[in-house]
Amino acid sequence: MAVHAHPDDESSKGAATMARYAAEGADVLVVTCTGGERGSVLNPALDTPETAENMSDIRRIEMDRAREILGVNQSWLGFVDSGWPDGDPRPPLPEGCFGLTPLDESVPRLVRLMREFRPHVVITYDEKGGYPHPDHVMCHTVSMAAYEASGDPDQYPDQGEPWQPLKLYYHMNMSRRRLEAIDALLVERGRDRVYDEWIANWGDRPDTYSRITTRVPCADYFEQRDDALRAHATQIDPYGRWFAAPLEIQKEAWPTEDFELASAVFEAPVPEDDLFAGVRDYLDSQSTEVTA
Ligand SMILES: [Zn+2]
Repeated sequence: MAVHAHPDDESSKGAATMARYAAEGADVLVVTCTGGERGSVLNPALDTPETAENMSDIRRIEMDRAREILGVNQSWLGFVDSGWPDGDPRPPLPEGCFGLTPLDESVPRLVRLMREFRPHVVITYDEKGGYPHPDHVMCHTVSMAAYEASGDPDQYPDQGEPWQPLKLYYHMNMSRRRLEAIDALLVERGRDRVYDEWIANWGDRPDTYSRITTRVPCADYFEQRDDALRAHATQIDPYGRWFAAPLEIQKEAWPTEDFELASAVFEAPVPEDDLFAGVRDYLDSQSTEVTA
């Protein structure tokens, strides 16, 4: 189960990993907390009044297409996009949005989905939301609370039979080390550099590379990832930096998507290269205990 803030986040974070696991037979469920109603149109070709008027419907259609491309299932949590609070000082969040929704309203909805879908592994954003959009930060908070509550029979007893996920991960795919590796290979091959400005503007933000515990090989699924992202046509500039580095360079320089293991109910040695590492052994040991 991958919990995301908006439709399109599932295609820009961990998409190749999900496509790989789905292709290998895992049941993969994307949970999308909001409808993305307040997303900005980032594709100049689609930035029209019609798009703005029908944003909510358009984003559902885009999400359906991306879900099909990735081969995963998807559920809406049903909250309303907070929008990016633009300005200095930041304006207050709009009434009724996800960023302002009390946890006792949002957490039980995710607990119910966890108890229905019964995931072994949950993926969400880190404590900063991966980036400081209020919906991303809230997505982290709600995911953590649901992960803690789902297996506890005393919490939300009316939301289904308790189910404890076994591992919880944060996305860690945007490391500086990854950008530098791709940049170095572009230079080595005499190709145009595409990340040099990004790297130069990194400033004193720490590199998330040191937090990575888990690198999942998924280069064979980068095309699917990019196709899914392009399906969110209003949200992505097809000529922008998401697609700037040639795929063959990305595949060679950095053939993985990366995660931080944030919690596990059993001892999980890291580094590892599989989100499900140890899960089968753990389940076998549990069933032996029951039958013994
Ligand atoms: Zn988002």
